Amino acid sequence: MVRDQTNHSVVRMRALAALAASFLLLLFGADRAIAQAGGIGGPADPTAPPPPAAGSFVFPVQGTHNYGDAGARFGAGRAGHVHTGQDVFAACATPLVAITNTKVVLTGFQKLAGNYLVLRYKKMRHDYFYAHMATAPLVTKGQVLAPGQQVGTVGDTGNASGCHLHFELWKRPGWYRGGKAVDPLPTLLAWDPAF
Ligand SMILES: [Zn+2]
Repeated sequence: MVRDQTNHSVVRMRALAALAASFLLLLFGADRAIAQAGGIGGPADPTAPPPPAAGSFVFPVQGTHNYGDAGARFGAGRAGHVHTGQDVFAACATPLVAITNTKVVLTGFQKLAGNYLVLRYKKMRHDYFYAHMATAPLVTKGQVLAPGQQVGTVGDTGNASGCHLHFELWKRPGWYRGGKAVDPLPTLLAWDPAF
């Protein structure tokens, strides 16, 4: 039957077209993922997880970590001052990433903070302070970051005992602009994939 054969070939062609379309979607999807990750050269790693979507929040320490004891908490006593952040302990050199779409407003080295940076989340006018990084930040002042973009690694530079991230959350108008540091632990726990 001619009609039957025609129908079969139409079905086959439609199936092939659908296959080609999904293949193209895969290709362009991968291109978009690479672009979001900052345009890394070389072939995409098919086993790598997709980068976090714009506007999402990710935990700043990308590896096994813990929140230490009471001394690591916001408000814990220190010689001559109180602790204005939360310490997150992790193996030295564990990657540190931007928690969301942020802009680098400050980078530097200070004898207490060690290698540090300040990221601004414009939408909420929140600032995030990362201290004791192993090396100078991998990003520069003015740079706009995507969620999950690496900014450095966990270290113990400055006044730190044991490798950890000292993390501060400053509410509007921000870091040393009249804002104030608040306890970042509830926020960190909300982002923490282990909780
Ligand atoms: Zn600390």
